[in-house]
Amino acid sequence: MAELEGLEFGKSDFVLLDEVTMEQFMENLKLRFEKGRIYTYIGEVVVSVNPYQQMDIYGKETIDAYRGRELYENPPHLYAVSDAAYKAMKRRAKDTCIVISGESGAGKTEASKYIMQYIAAITNPSQRKEVESVKNVLLKSNCVLEAFGNAKTNRNDNSSRFGKYMDINFNFNGDPTGGHINNYLLEKSRVVHQQEGERNFHSFYQLLRGGSQDMLASFHLVNDPAVYTYTKEGAATATSNNDRSSHKAVMSALEVIGFTKEEINSIYQILASILLLGNMQFESDGESVQIQGLEAVNQISELTDTEPDSVSKTLLYRTVATGGGEVIEKGHTEQEACFGRDAFAKALYERLFGWIVSRINSVIEVKDYNPVLHGKNTVIGVLDIYGFEIFDNNSFEQFCINYCNEKLQQLFIELILRQEQGEYQREGITWQHIDYFNNQIIVDLVEQSHKGIISILDEACLTVGKVTDTVCLDSMDTKLAQHPHYTSRKLSPADKTMDFQKDFLVYTLTHFGFLDKNKDMLYQDFKRLMYNSANPVLKEMWPDGHLSITEVTKRPLTAATLFKNSIVALVDKLACKEPYYVRCIKPNEVKSPVLFDDARCEHQVAYLGLMENVMVRRAGFAYRQPYARFLQRYKMTCEYTWPNHLMASDREAVEAIVTQHGFQDDVAYGHTKLFVRTPRSLFTLEQERAAL
Ligand code: ATP
Ligand code: MG
Repeated sequence: MAELEGLEFGKSDFVLLDEVTMEQFMENLKLRFEKGRIYTYIGEVVVSVNPYQQMDIYGKETIDAYRGRELYENPPHLYAVSDAAYKAMKRRAKDTCIVISGESGAGKTEASKYIMQYIAAITNPSQRKEVESVKNVLLKSNCVLEAFGNAKTNRNDNSSRFGKYMDINFNFNGDPTGGHINNYLLEKSRVVHQQEGERNFHSFYQLLRGGSQDMLASFHLVNDPAVYTYTKEGAATATSNNDRSSHKAVMSALEVIGFTKEEINSIYQILASILLLGNMQFESDGESVQIQGLEAVNQISELTDTEPDSVSKTLLYRTVATGGGEVIEKGHTEQEACFGRDAFAKALYERLFGWIVSRINSVIEVKDYNPVLHGKNTVIGVLDIYGFEIFDNNSFEQFCINYCNEKLQQLFIELILRQEQGEYQREGITWQHIDYFNNQIIVDLVEQSHKGIISILDEACLTVGKVTDTVCLDSMDTKLAQHPHYTSRKLSPADKTMDFQKDFLVYTLTHFGFLDKNKDMLYQDFKRLMYNSANPVLKEMWPDGHLSITEVTKRPLTAATLFKNSIVALVDKLACKEPYYVRCIKPNEVKSPVLFDDARCEHQVAYLGLMENVMVRRAGFAYRQPYARFLQRYKMTCEYTWPNHLMASDREAVEAIVTQHGFQDDVAYGHTKLFVRTPRSLFTLEQERAAL
């Protein structure tokens, strides 16, 4: 709890509200935003409101002010939780993690960057070269991942279209020795299609606008995004970032990280191939389908180091195994050829992104670490992952993203409770039960085997023959009719499939394209084409391309199941760490630094469960502080402790203060800390202190 700000800035910890009501919560949040106080605590959780303007609170002086200090010694700040996570890791050898959540544009990625900058700034005081180079790669990786994984959307000019979890490893000195990045569900459908006003991934525009004439010429490209189907939509859209200068920064970041010249060239060759693929058209004479203009085929084969014949054949035919075990070639219809082309473009990009991440990982992975020699290797994890998304048209991605958020929300409540419980136990204070909304029931609805939504989807996808979205929905209606949180689309308007209801939250998913996206089909022929590339980088991206059609597994894992597995693994990883939370709020839809949209903010406070968080924190003891700290602050309010006490321990001195002010029934004495149940007792002390 920060005490260093005056009350004109509102309460720096929501735990100190007079009453825990939404009105008071919102009033405080708004007041603080208007006064330029974008951070507020709920205990150790930081609530952050996107300021939409550069704030002068991230400089070196601020870093110095927070370094090594306790949470309550300074006004609320990201740096304070970063330091708390770092201290716990260093002093108590705990693995910790910082979980950043909030909706698109709320400020998660910016927060994660400030956190990393803080950690980089406070470590390696002796400037050891190896450590500096690890830090440098960690910081530079952001630039590369943002270029390839971020895009302008209608909500955020620099929206992360993938989830990211980054572990930073530390040695016993507390200096970074390496790290590891996990990426989740890149929104690859963006490669071939963007909504009005949105753009494809930044990387394409950076290449087209920033690549040298020589580079573009060698890739058979021109420097105009309007020429390419895949980048046309966003070509005229203004963004706040400059594609040309970003291209230079990305190229140099790739080099610093350690990508070779050949690798960097391969990356851009793949981007170019995708753009050229996008412009490829097919024509049908009624019997067979042809590619319009063979120039593009030659260019793509050159860029991907494959045979032109193989390229055109793969675009026009697929191999299929007949029932009798025979392998035949089947010509595509025009529609199938277009589908194949787009699926190929998306897969190329997705694999490129995955490869870039693993290549960065190979550089930063901790090598030759000997725990006997070097002591325990500890970790701080930083999670920056998409928040709830509710659009007019919700598809498979929103389903996955929202499921992920339900999981994280569940973990949040669980861990906050566990943390409280742990602290009470350590301090020898009796734990009291707290009631809270448990969203396990919603998580189960999605992920339970056999009867959960993902299972039903998978079953439909793996069934041979034509299973349409409608058939699949009927099956859901039958299996889930009894579930209290499931509403059949027949009961709701239009094509709505399901309602997830929570105390505050109702969202409905429409079902368009669910099955196709879950199946995530790419003809095996494309994989083989890439596997046979003479470019070792491309080949490495397609290890599954060596399988022949008869060897391809009949029941591949579907996209939803793969995603579920990755999220379950993520939750396991987080659950064994000491968590710190940053909850980001977007103040308005128009990127204004002065507008606080009450309704929008209240909505976010509700679904982030912030009120519940305050309640959990206040259900037991709202406030706790080490005896020495408490004394230091309030000793002047009691004759027995001012200027110094003569008692046997600080604890006894604190007892004297508490008793003198008459709130002994409102406290508990832990081994090292005083616990105060209601904030009111503290106000009395604060008032007295101020009056002196
Ligand atoms: P998404 O889920 O779409 O990736 P996000 O939560 O990661 O969204 P950011 O990209 O971090 O959102 O923030 C969106 C924009 O808001 C930034 O590009 C920046 O302009 C502004 N912004 C966010 N945080 C801050 C901050 N602390 N100071 C100044 N501007 C900020
Ligand atoms: Mg982001």
